[in-house]
Amino acid sequence: MTISAEEILAQRLERLDELSLRRSLRVLSGRAGVHCRLDGRDVVNFSSNDYLGLAGDTDIGRTLAGATAELGSGAGASRLVGGHHEAHAALEREFADWMGAPRAVFLPSGYHANIAALTAVCGPGDTIFSDELNHASIVDGCRLSGASVVVYRHADAGSLAEKLGEAASEGLRLVVTESIFSVDGDEAPLAQIAALKRPHGFLLMIDEAHAIGCYGPGGRGLCAEQGISREMDLLVGTFGKAVGASGAAIACGDLLAELAINRGRTFMFTTATPPAVTEMVRAAIRRARDAEDRRKRLRENAALFRAGCQKQGFSIPGARAICPVILGAERRALLAMERLWDSGFYVQALRPPTVPAGACRLRISVSAAHTTDDIGGLAAALTEALGPHDQSKDE
Ligand SMILES: *Cc1c(COP(=O)(O)O)cnc(C)c1O
Repeated sequence: MTISAEEILAQRLERLDELSLRRSLRVLSGRAGVHCRLDGRDVVNFSSNDYLGLAGDTDIGRTLAGATAELGSGAGASRLVGGHHEAHAALEREFADWMGAPRAVFLPSGYHANIAALTAVCGPGDTIFSDELNHASIVDGCRLSGASVVVYRHADAGSLAEKLGEAASEGLRLVVTESIFSVDGDEAPLAQIAALKRPHGFLLMIDEAHAIGCYGPGGRGLCAEQGISREMDLLVGTFGKAVGASGAAIACGDLLAELAINRGRTFMFTTATPPAVTEMVRAAIRRARDAEDRRKRLRENAALFRAGCQKQGFSIPGARAICPVILGAERRALLAMERLWDSGFYVQALRPPTVPAGACRLRISVSAAHTTDDIGGLAAALTEALGPHDQSKDE
């Protein structure tokens, strides 16, 4: 008896249900932001990446209305075949200036940017050294490049040094890591990694998705904060998180920028971001760059939440905006998420394949737009939601 394709597909979905790995969409209505309406319910959102509270900014939104009236709705083609607009060129100049890099290449998203950078630079015969917790877009870019991939232990420069020493040295070598990791908000040891460049020889690519706009002098990110900008060959900054818009850019030198345009598959084979949207992203970038007050607020809120949790008897590692609460089993994370939802807080439970099996967690992200009450309320609700369970026993 043969099984139909439909039955096979239905089984795959059921399997996700059985493993508590099924995901579903909640519908946002009205404006995005930390105070929003999800599935028809007003909630305080601790799940967004809107770190500076700019995603719902109507001034930036009005730039789009004005630009669309002038420029229309689309770019008409990919950048290489007539879709390259003055707005794209201006954005690239401005982002390069902000990062202190010679050039920048703009892409429709961070997912596109990581794949463009990795496929532009690396090919078969080359070796990419990748942190084991790097984002899916980096993992996919590594695969698509055709290079050999060597995975080193998470945020461990010693493990990286070991792998660099072991691996064959023909072809190009590239090390890629996030600066602030998206899952737990912890940091890559950037200075230690940069120090390996001289003895081992490699190109260094840093994904600053969760750091651009948030940290470093003028919001330039963690490489700038740690003084290693000169060691960095490719920096990916995204505009959908702290910047509150969408898109991403690779900051790099001339040679790598030309390669990204000529070999980056997700640059070459996708329609250019609409010029009007690009004008809006430019406005959003300027706004985020100058938002020193919001950066200060973000730091204060992250410290306030950690202090609130400490008072309730549990501690949150790290010091940045992303606050992980590690719970272990899928069901436990989902239950905590549901309980928080019932208390009016939207918090995301991370499950495989986002995190390793058995390491499910709540990923709480604090924003500059949260009020003191939001933060105190969540710390209290979290204590309730986790119940009498002792957090330390699950690890
Ligand atoms: C979100 C994210 C991306 C992808 O950026 P998008 O603009 O959302 O496509 C890339 N890298 C990391 C580390 C991220 O967290």
